[in-house]
Amino acid sequence: MASEPAFPRGRPLTSRPAGVVATADGVRSRRSSAEEALRDALARVDALDGRVGAFLEVNPDLAFEEARAVDARVAAGEELPLAGVPMAIKDNMWVAGRQATCASRILAGFRPPADATAVSRLRASGAVFVGRANMDEFAMGSSTENSSIQLTRNPHDLDRIPGGSSGGSAAAVASGMVPGALGSDTGGSIRQPAACCGVVGFKPTYGRVSRYGLVAFASSLDQIGPIARSVEDAARIYRAIAGPDPLDSTSSSREPGDPEAAVAKGAAGLTVGFLEEAQAEGLDGEVSKNLDDARRAFESAGARVKSVSVPRAPDAIAIYYVVASAEASSNLARYDSVRYGPRPPATDLAELYVESRTRGFGPEVKRRILLGTFALAAGYYEAYYGRAMRARALLSEDFDRAFREVDVIVCPSIPAPAFRIGEKTDDPLTMYLSDIFTVPASLAGLPAISLPSGFSGEGLPLGVQILGPRFAEDSVFAAAGALERELALPDEMPRGVG
Ligand code: GLN
Repeated sequence: MASEPAFPRGRPLTSRPAGVVATADGVRSRRSSAEEALRDALARVDALDGRVGAFLEVNPDLAFEEARAVDARVAAGEELPLAGVPMAIKDNMWVAGRQATCASRILAGFRPPADATAVSRLRASGAVFVGRANMDEFAMGSSTENSSIQLTRNPHDLDRIPGGSSGGSAAAVASGMVPGALGSDTGGSIRQPAACCGVVGFKPTYGRVSRYGLVAFASSLDQIGPIARSVEDAARIYRAIAGPDPLDSTSSSREPGDPEAAVAKGAAGLTVGFLEEAQAEGLDGEVSKNLDDARRAFESAGARVKSVSVPRAPDAIAIYYVVASAEASSNLARYDSVRYGPRPPATDLAELYVESRTRGFGPEVKRRILLGTFALAAGYYEAYYGRAMRARALLSEDFDRAFREVDVIVCPSIPAPAFRIGEKTDDPLTMYLSDIFTVPASLAGLPAISLPSGFSGEGLPLGVQILGPRFAEDSVFAAAGALERELALPDEMPRGVG
């Protein structure tokens, strides 16, 4: 894959590569170069991706061009916060010059007309794009098994799913192929795969990062965010992509804070609320024990720890699957092979629609379109969509009340460690429950981070999630940085690829 596979300075591929901040600092100070960092990343992709399957496509030539341009900018004295950082981009974001297919047959060969705003901001900050990361088709799923192209495997155990829908991004980061990646999160698709793969994933406040150039799934929920190996690394990427954008009318005009300073600040003075509803019966024993460890870690980091209730959190899955499917059915109406995608033979327009959509969409996407169309149908609108929207507003009010008592809310990221490939493919409803802890923040538009919090008895990663009030990213990063330092988990190669 890599046209120049030479690995720099004889470091073994199984060693941990430098993270985002360390790579950028090395390139900025000219101790290394963007080209060298890219060579390292491509050598790792060559060695590991045959087993992991994180990338749909790698573009060494384009990437080397970008890397050389970054080295020239550094030499010219430009200050680049992500200088030379090799990154994976989920396949639902526009990167000019590459395809963006959402891992769907219906978008095969689609070449976007421009960079997504998040992507152009990464470029401006000096990042280098290694390739397109695999995902569940149109970001619908929790295991990346809905990709129409390939499976992605969990680097900790190659028989298990990496989570989804940003499973390619999370697996690429966890296996050390790239120090950072972009994912998108509609109901948990950054946080859940990050937790399954033992890395950090952050979903910003709705409106914080422009959605321009992100292929829409559910427009009132979709957000782009970083996946990286440390909280500080995630903060660096987030800061680069956040902020107002005239190309997205839902992007907020508020200026992002200083997330890296927040990470360093610590948890002293923060009131951390553990979500009561998450500890209800049925919580996996290991997950529950792991959450207790996080509680103690927050206490020893100097936070004030208490319990907090969000009474409607348990309704979030039901609300989410009505709202997200309704929006998806509307957003996906545009795929008819007239404007996008391969055109099947047909004698009239109706046949063209039927043929292209029958062949182009996979089973999960069809299921969502049917569900959403039903929920929006004239006779059922009030009973389903209208009701879900009212319940969503009430859930947001619950959070507003809870945040009068606490600065951040903590709950698990995933109800159980990554499951086996194939285990839930025949049971969509059980699959939907993977998102039980992530959808509440999505519905309320809150910033939320997932960070590694330890391992199950079988050695699989577990994750803890920290939620903040809208636009309080700094509190989330402060709490996450403190927890990460307190837990001090080793930064080792996952055993599936180590
Ligand atoms: N797993 C959830 C779903 O299938 C969330 C997906 C996402 O956040 N994109 O809808």
